[in-house]
Amino acid sequence: MKVHIIPALQDNYMYLLVDESSNEAAIVDPVNPSKVVEIVNQENVKLTTVLTTHHHWDHAGGNEELVKLVPGLAVYGGDNRIGALNKKVSHGDKLQVGNLEIQCLFTPCHTSGHICYYLPSSSVNGQSAVFTGDTLFQGGCGRFFEGTADQMYHALINVLGALPDDTRVYCGHEYSLQNLAFGLYVEPNNEFVSKRISWAREQREKSQPTIPSLLSEEKQFNPFMRVHEPSVQSHAKQTDPIETMKSLRTEKDSFKANV
Ligand SMILES: [Zn+2]
Repeated sequence: MKVHIIPALQDNYMYLLVDESSNEAAIVDPVNPSKVVEIVNQENVKLTTVLTTHHHWDHAGGNEELVKLVPGLAVYGGDNRIGALNKKVSHGDKLQVGNLEIQCLFTPCHTSGHICYYLPSSSVNGQSAVFTGDTLFQGGCGRFFEGTADQMYHALINVLGALPDDTRVYCGHEYSLQNLAFGLYVEPNNEFVSKRISWAREQREKSQPTIPSLLSEEKQFNPFMRVHEPSVQSHAKQTDPIETMKSLRTEKDSFKANV
């Protein structure tokens, strides 16, 4: 599998997944349809599938136009509010793009119909990958617009956290520096956070994405995946991981990162 990282809008990412054995492709959150078509033509691949993580306009807002530009697309998602949706999925559903097998993971909280898309190593003939939309960001997580800390805990710890450690994480926004700044505020002595900040800064200075990270790395520098750690709990003045999650999110909602 080849993954093309395509920046869109201010800080969104679209991802073009290509099954090199069949030349078939899927696009994750195609908010800028003309740019998608341009890259599909340039790469000379056959786009058959849209994978929508959630209904917010900066993710699903291009679906209607894209199905006009590329007729016959299968449009996947887990929420009836998603434009042009014709394949509604729920947790554990599997779909096929060429020879790639993609598994749907239901992760409600940021929105009540949020889906992450997971490709196990057996499917990609190499390192597994997950497309996490606005559920898991590098160093952070999405706001709890339509859900609870309990649900985000389940999504980050039980669902995404249970994937193999070497899974590549492709998230919906370039928020890494802002998130890592919060991570350093939560855990000032966490060297994984400070090292990642230096690296991410270099990437951004070269106008390069900081994506993907590895799941093993998120477990080292993402406070929202570290709610069982005494250092994170003590910052939040909590002893329960879900209460810690709740407290971190409230604090992050008004945190001003100096990046
Ligand atoms: Zn969103």
